[in-house]
Amino acid sequence: MNILFFGPNGSGKGTQGAILKDKYNTAHIESGAIFRENISNGTELGAKAKEYIDKGDLVPDEITIPMILDRLKRDDCKNGWLLDGFPRNKNQAIKLDEALKEAGMALDIVIEILLDREIAKNRIMGRRLCVNDNNHPNNIFIDAIKPDGDKCRVCGGELKTRADDQDEDAISKRHGIYYDTETGTLASAYYFKDIAEKTGTVKYITLNGKPSVKEVAAELISKL
Ligand code: AMP
Repeated sequence: MNILFFGPNGSGKGTQGAILKDKYNTAHIESGAIFRENISNGTELGAKAKEYIDKGDLVPDEITIPMILDRLKRDDCKNGWLLDGFPRNKNQAIKLDEALKEAGMALDIVIEILLDREIAKNRIMGRRLCVNDNNHPNNIFIDAIKPDGDKCRVCGGELKTRADDQDEDAISKRHGIYYDTETGTLASAYYFKDIAEKTGTVKYITLNGKPSVKEVAAELISKL
């Protein structure tokens, strides 16, 4: 199963993505997490990406597109993949579409979480990252995934905040890119929506991201 997951930053994409990853046993590829891993490992890629990430800008396509297309060729993607955070603009969508066609790979499902910008912003500011596992969701503003004191609710690990999650200007920039239906992330989602409508080979699912984590997960499962 090959899946694209769209949703504004803070819409619960990561949390719902983890559910899908377990259901279909796919590789869960989060472009933002790959960049953060490179930053903490002090790689050259990480150093280049950091200056853009801290400001809430997109890392240039020349860096991001080959990084993700190479990642899709790894062995753990043979059973399928779930892409979260890519494509993030229309150019990335076109390049991904071309690469899939070239590799003879089919896209099966596209999911779009709908959530209002203000709610998404609050959720971002409450988000906490587990140092042990990126798929352990914690958010101080969401009851269902509230940390256990100051520790991860899943494994008791240390929690961190992301610098770009606490900076309102950076959040605003990231959302500006997401909600842009001309060239931004929604434009890339609609690129695949168009393919889904025209060909019928791709299933395009929309989810209301406002209810609780459990309710959104239930809607997701019922629509798959
Ligand atoms: P995220 O964890 O998805 O919020 O991503 C964090 C940051 O990584 C973004 O604000 C961008 O700076 C960068 N990033 C993640 N995915 C992409 C992408 N597909 N294209 C360009 N930059 C990206």
